[in-house]
Amino acid sequence: MSAKHGCFLQVLLVYAHPEPRSLNGALRDVAIKALEAEGHEVRVTDLYADEWKSEIDRADFPALTSDTRFKPSRASKEAFATDTLTEDVKAEQEKLLWADTLILQFPLWWYSMPAILKGWVDRVYAYGFAYGVGEHSDKYWGKRFGEGTLAGKRAMLVVTTGGWEEHYSSRGVNGPIDDLLFPINHGILFYPGYDVLPPFVAYRVDGLDDAGFDETAERLRQRMRTLATTTPIPYRRQNGGDYVIPSLQLRPELSTPDTRSFALHLNGGRDSAA
Ligand code: FAD
Repeated sequence: MSAKHGCFLQVLLVYAHPEPRSLNGALRDVAIKALEAEGHEVRVTDLYADEWKSEIDRADFPALTSDTRFKPSRASKEAFATDTLTEDVKAEQEKLLWADTLILQFPLWWYSMPAILKGWVDRVYAYGFAYGVGEHSDKYWGKRFGEGTLAGKRAMLVVTTGGWEEHYSSRGVNGPIDDLLFPINHGILFYPGYDVLPPFVAYRVDGLDDAGFDETAERLRQRMRTLATTTPIPYRRQNGGDYVIPSLQLRPELSTPDTRSFALHLNGGRDSAA
């Protein structure tokens, strides 16, 4: 459904590149323009421009007394519960609650996201907000992997790589891109509840010529136009019946021949208990 059919999205784009005149900077502008042309509302978190503090430390928890041993998850839990998280973190959480769609955009650096974006996740995803949500017992292991604070919202990655598409194919030396992005897509986005859309990946971008840029920009525009209708990656829900609780292992009868692959956590539609 496009905005023309009445579906106006509120999109948060979290952008991690130090140079606004970079390819990523140009693609960010392409994405924003395409989204706004559809009638969607876009907010941007520009991590480098905002000089985002990326490391969790005591300064994040002003209520923590100096003689208290600093345990990050406990401090995070208390600060979230007492509304004493720092203002920069609270502002990002409010944006996440405002947005029905989250886009994380970054160049692939060392097979992952730039440290500044990881630090955004570390600090914004507080205990009680993104994890530690819902009952935790031997019978119920929290609202996560398909449930949680951000359930009902959509998220996707926009990624550029130096490596070729073949290098990230199933037999490519880098490993398949879906496996490399699994910790982000599954561990960071699906965990607090997002429906995760397949990533937009622009490969082999170093030295991209004008024709290559135009083709990449058009592919990105198309993904922005179909944000509301793209089918999410069919990850299995933790509490959907496919996993044994509390071991959280996939039920043996649902295992596939490729039992060590991340693809195990995809619901092919045939073998789900849900
Ligand atoms: P830029 O360098 O800004 O641009 C790339 C090219 O795009 C330019 O040379 C130009 O030809 C073109 N271009 C830029 N802007 C425009 C425009 N407006 N219009 C038309 N053309 C334009 N790659 C991997 O595959 N795997 C890794 O693990 C990996 N690790 C890395 C780690 C580090 C620390 C670094 C610095 C790089 C790494 N890379 C890796 C490469 C990296 O992913 C790419 O360099 C990056 O994705 C390129 O994006 P950029 O925005 O920085 O591009």
